[in-house]
Amino acid sequence: MSDRIRVQTGVATRVLLGPGARHRVPDEVERLGAKAVLLVAGMRQDAAGELADALGRRLALRFARPTVHTPVTVTDEVMGLVADRGGVDAVVALGGGSAVGLAKAVAARTGIPQVAVPTTYAGSEVTPVLGETSGGVKTTRRDPALQPGTVVYDPELTLSMPPGLTLTSALNALAHAVEGLWDAEASPGALAYATEAATTILAALPAVLDRPDDVGAREELQGAAWLAGVVLAQSRMGLHHQLAHVLGGAFDLPHAPLHAMLLAHVMEYDLPAAPRAQARLARIADGDPVAAVRALAARFDGPRALRDLGVPEDGLRAIAERVVAHPYPNPRALDVASVHALLRTAW
Ligand code: NAD
Repeated sequence: MSDRIRVQTGVATRVLLGPGARHRVPDEVERLGAKAVLLVAGMRQDAAGELADALGRRLALRFARPTVHTPVTVTDEVMGLVADRGGVDAVVALGGGSAVGLAKAVAARTGIPQVAVPTTYAGSEVTPVLGETSGGVKTTRRDPALQPGTVVYDPELTLSMPPGLTLTSALNALAHAVEGLWDAEASPGALAYATEAATTILAALPAVLDRPDDVGAREELQGAAWLAGVVLAQSRMGLHHQLAHVLGGAFDLPHAPLHAMLLAHVMEYDLPAAPRAQARLARIADGDPVAAVRALAARFDGPRALRDLGVPEDGLRAIAERVVAHPYPNPRALDVASVHALLRTAW
């Protein structure tokens, strides 16, 4: 039998997308037959307050402190509240990947259904993946039961994103698409999603940065981030995600800015070994895709190099060694010297 059989599993999520879609959340909760909802909201309090009011009698509990990398201590605290209240039969997450991650962690422990209302472009809401941290160690698990059954994308909820979060979070989404494009085992479906996601992000992101209040452009970008999230779920991530994972874990770095600063460097390293991705991305960018990503990343008004995030230069070699010891599938072969050189350039 061929070892080139590519697998695509179904995406069983119900997705709503459009301005004002957040007002449909109570209907979606109703559809699940839920009567006592836990609302996890890491977003600004006005959006959370509006949703809490709309849930009305169905709101059983509200938790406002989801934390990046889903610490087990925070999940334990929420599980204590859920146990005290009793009868909680659904969880609604409003916020970025941190809020969605906490809802997944609660669903993993209770089996209750999830409604995700994402407010960044991280994509976690359409993946069956959960990363949790305990004692400084992050472990990741994959289980179809972790994936929220309902996702509500409302571009109006992204209007409050500061420009830096818009930019870095969108580049985080672009990284999902780029790694899908160079995954040699990606299915035609994943490639189609990745191509559409990358095309739309490169077109819509500059428009959103120029006109942050343009809901139409925000809707395009959010739709592309959704597709990029599906790519994250459906294909194998490579060096980019591995570096983000190892660096982020070792130095406790912010998720989206780290992705934003690494992407052009990893593309420069990998694209010469990935002709299909190179050709598609050159068509999409109508020129050099590395230059296009670099130009976007340069618009970030925050830390743009590893040194600015406080990563010590003498820690880079150990990171390269860890990456090479357990490499993710990647188009270009990895050796300590090359990965170290890449990291020094990013530093
Ligand atoms: P985040 O959820 O931590 O949000 C970053 C900050 O932005 C927070 O302060 C949040 O309150 C704020 N914010 C969010 N939306 C906003 C909005 N619309 N307006 C104003 N402020 C807003 O960051 P993130 O990058 O979305 O998610 C990162 C986390 O998600 C990490 O823990 C990462 O590991 C996880 N993640 C998991 C997956 C997966 O498939 N399991 C995928 C992507 C990310």
